Amino acid sequence: MSLLVVGSIALDTVKTPVEEHADLVGGSASYAALGASFFSPVKLVGVVGKDFPASEFDFWKSRKIDVNGVQRVDGKTFRWSGEYAWDLNTRETRSVALNVFEHFKPVLPAFYRQSDFTLLANIAPALQSHVLDQMEKPRFVVADTMDLWIETTRKDLDALLPRVDLLILNDSEARQMTKETSLIKAGRSIRKLGPRYVAIKKGEHGALLFGEDEFFSCGAYPLEDIHDPTGAGDTFAGGMAGYLAGAVKNVQFTDLRKAMIYGSVLASFTVEAFSLDRLRKLSMDEIKERYETFKLMSQFEVEI
Ligand code: AMP
Repeated sequence: MSLLVVGSIALDTVKTPVEEHADLVGGSASYAALGASFFSPVKLVGVVGKDFPASEFDFWKSRKIDVNGVQRVDGKTFRWSGEYAWDLNTRETRSVALNVFEHFKPVLPAFYRQSDFTLLANIAPALQSHVLDQMEKPRFVVADTMDLWIETTRKDLDALLPRVDLLILNDSEARQMTKETSLIKAGRSIRKLGPRYVAIKKGEHGALLFGEDEFFSCGAYPLEDIHDPTGAGDTFAGGMAGYLAGAVKNVQFTDLRKAMIYGSVLASFTVEAFSLDRLRKLSMDEIKERYETFKLMSQFEVEI
């Protein structure tokens, strides 16, 4: 089964305490689509300007990422610039230029509309809903969001949530959304807003998964060298949604647990290099190896 992915396609400038790089291919949909493509064919929806490298379209096609839903229009590509503090966790947005995104209204090609699995990667919730409106019968909808939308377009986000099966957000966003200090309470109360399942990411501390009566917690892969954390969250979402679309018919909690590990594995590769550089040369064997390490890390025997 294939996965429809909509989100931002960007040119990023990223500064860490040791390096700075400009005009990097980024955006929530770019990371999510490439992450998902390891498990399932992807149908990509987005918009770029005339300054966006044509070579990226060739790369997407080489990875079974369908680009019929990507509009290339007059103007400049969406640009984002961010700077990380020494902990490589705290991030400040230095600038955002919407450019071609300002007038973007996604129009799905007819053959995209029947996709069973959908990932609404991070963009304005009104656009995420607009994509869902055009779909025939999406079986499982995954959505990501960010602090900006919780703060500025909360009504649109609240309207989207009942249409979402799995909402993915990070710990500070979950607290911001619910005004709860406890992440357990936050996860439970976000479920009451609509999504059947909620995944809360905790950066280097792993992630939590909430279902009706089910709960799962997993750690993060212990990495020594992190170069650029940009896109980790988007790749996590892509890995989760891609695994579900590629391997699962009727999504159960056990499938979501596995998907969460795959999402964590994919994200752990993204942060090893700037932009999509590590994902571009990643192999399925490397993914499987880290998945097995994750399994070993979660097993324990206690003798009392
Ligand atoms: P992450 O590190 O997973 O939070 O995602 C970083 C990516 O999000 C970057 O590649 C940015 O281009 C993209 N991004 C930043 N701000 C926005 C926004 N307001 N809407 C959509 N994408 C964004």
